[in-house]
Amino acid sequence: MNLSPGGHEPVAQLTWRGGKRKAWLYRIDLAKPKRTPTLAQERALDRAMAARQTCPECGRRYFHCLRLRSVGSCEECFDGTPADPGSYIAPTAA
Ligand SMILES: [Zn+2]
Repeated sequence: MNLSPGGHEPVAQLTWRGGKRKAWLYRIDLAKPKRTPTLAQERALDRAMAARQTCPECGRRYFHCLRLRSVGSCEECFDGTPADPGSYIAPTAA
């Protein structure tokens, strides 16, 4: 949503898979819009983010960072957990 927590504490924590997975939830009304980076910063940031969000196995780019260091691919390639189709951009046919 292009928002940042803006310094406030998370209001809830989502836990699933028996506590193995966690996500903090923040209040949208307290969130602040992210600082608008310049175009050059945005490009550099996008490259850095793309590297962390793109699965080397299937080429999908996710909206969240993948655990490439420990897992090396997305969840679906790693253990078959189907990825939410809304959570990634399918690779474009080159
Ligand atoms: Zn994958």
